[in-house]
Amino acid sequence: MKILLATSELHPFSKTGGLADMVGALAKFLAKAGHTVGVVTPLYGSVKVDRATLQPLDWRLDLSIGLRVAHGTIKTHTTAEGVTVYFVDQPELYGRPELYNDSAGDYPDNPERFIFLSRAAVNLARYLPLAVRPEVLHAHDWQTGLVPLYVYHGRTREAWLKSPKTFFTIHNLAYQGRYEGPRYGSTGLPWDYFHTEGAEFHRDFNMLKAGVAFADQVTTVSPSYAEEIKQIEQGCGLEGLLKRRAETLSGILNGVDYEEWNTTANPHLPAAYSAADLTGKDHCKAALQLEYGLPVRPDVPLFGTVGRLADQKGVDIQLEALEVMLEEDIQFVMLGSGSKPFEEGYRALAEKFPGKIACRFGFSQGLSHRVEAGCDFFVMPSRYEPCGLNQMYSLRYGTVPIVRGTGGLNDSVIDIKEDVSLANGIKFRDYSAAALTKAMYKAKVLFKESELFAHYRANGIAVDFSWERTCQDYVKLYKRKG
Ligand code: ADP
Repeated sequence: MKILLATSELHPFSKTGGLADMVGALAKFLAKAGHTVGVVTPLYGSVKVDRATLQPLDWRLDLSIGLRVAHGTIKTHTTAEGVTVYFVDQPELYGRPELYNDSAGDYPDNPERFIFLSRAAVNLARYLPLAVRPEVLHAHDWQTGLVPLYVYHGRTREAWLKSPKTFFTIHNLAYQGRYEGPRYGSTGLPWDYFHTEGAEFHRDFNMLKAGVAFADQVTTVSPSYAEEIKQIEQGCGLEGLLKRRAETLSGILNGVDYEEWNTTANPHLPAAYSAADLTGKDHCKAALQLEYGLPVRPDVPLFGTVGRLADQKGVDIQLEALEVMLEEDIQFVMLGSGSKPFEEGYRALAEKFPGKIACRFGFSQGLSHRVEAGCDFFVMPSRYEPCGLNQMYSLRYGTVPIVRGTGGLNDSVIDIKEDVSLANGIKFRDYSAAALTKAMYKAKVLFKESELFAHYRANGIAVDFSWERTCQDYVKLYKRKG
C-alpha cells in the first residue's frame, strides 16, 4: 500500500513524547513490510538531521493561513528502511528550538503552525507523483486533526477524485488544540464545518474534534483507552461524538521498537544482559546508582520513573507515596521535566531523604534507557494512559512495572491476580497515594522473594509487543477502509 503519515513529531528527528516514538516506528515497520511510506513533519530548528543531506523537492507550498499566504518548501530525507520523510520547511513557523512552546508558554501561533502542517500534508497527498500518491493518509493528534477535514472538503466540494482514505489516531484526548472560535478563520475552510458535529466545541475551534468528526476511521493507541474515552470521566467533553462514531473507532496497542529498546546490543547501556543471564542487569543497577550518586547496594530495591511531570502521570500520588515509602530501605531515581511544582516536590524529597532518592530534570534518551535497565521496579501511577510505552520497555528490560490499571497500562501489564503463571507486574486500581504505597510495599516484598521475582522478570522479558503485530493490525484496517 501507499501510505502517508502526518505528524508534529517524529523519532529520531524531533520528540517530546510517545507520539514521536509511535509514528517513527509505525513508518519504519510499514516500510519494512514492503509498503511505500512517507511522513510529513515540520523542519523545526532543533530537528536532528544534517541539513546538507536533505533533498529539496521541486515543490512550492503557497498556502493561505488566514488573510496571508505563507510560503514553504519541502525537503526530503530517506531513512535506512526507505521511508521518505517530507520535512515542511517554513522557518517563520517552525524555525524555533522547541516544538510547541518556550519558557513563556505555548507559542501563540500554534494553530496557524499546525494548520499549515495539515494543509501541507493534504497538498502532498493530492499532488505527489502517482507512484507515491497515498491511498491512505494517516494523521495523528490535534496538530494534524484538520487533515481529515481538508480531505473531506476536497472530496465533497472540489471534486477530488480518488482521494485517500483518512485515518486519525488519538494519542492523548486531553490535548485537543482548542482555540477561540475566530481562529477557525485561519483554516480558509468554509464556516459551515464549524458546528457542534464538526470543528466547533462550545463556540471554540477544536482541531482534534475536527479529526474525530471527519476521519474515515478513528483509532487510538490501546483497546482499553478506546472504551474509556467514550465515557464521561475520560471523554474530555468529546465522549458524545466518540460514542456516535463508535463504529469507526478502534484501539490498537502500540508496539515497541526492539531494535532500539533492547538490552542485548544497546549503546546506551553499560552492560548487556538477557533472560538467560541477568548478570549484566546487576552491573546496570550499580552503574545507575553511581550515576545518580546513590549508595551502590545490590540488596536494596531500586524504583524508578521516567516521564513528563504532568498531572496525567500521577505525580501527585507518586510524591505522596514516596513520603511514606522513603522511610523504608528503598531507593528511587527519576528522570523527567514539566510542571515546576512537581519538580519542586521531587527536589524537596531529595533534600529530605538524601542517599535514597535522586532526581534528574531534563530530557535524555540515553539516561531513560539506563533508568529502565538499572531499576528493579518502574513506577507508572498514571491517572489515565492512552497506551504508555515505558511500562512496555520495562517489561523487556526485566524491570517489573508497577502501574495503575488504566488504558494501555491495563492492556499491557499482567498482575498476579489476573494470571499467576503469566504475572509480570503489579497493578493497582484506585487513584490514591494509599493504593500506590501498597503496591510499592508489595514490590518490596517481591524483591526479597527471589524465585517469584525471577518469575516476574522472565515473564516480562518474554512478552512480545513487537511492531510487526501492531503494523499488521493497522494494515488490516487500512485495507478494510481503503
Ligand atoms: P507520553 O507520550 O504520554 O509522554 P509514553 O510513555 O507513551 O508517554 O512515552 C514517553 C516517551 O518519552 C518514552 O519513550 C519515554 O522514555 C520518553 N521520555 C519522557 N520523558 C523523558 C525524559 N525526561 N527523558 C528521556 N525520555 C523521556
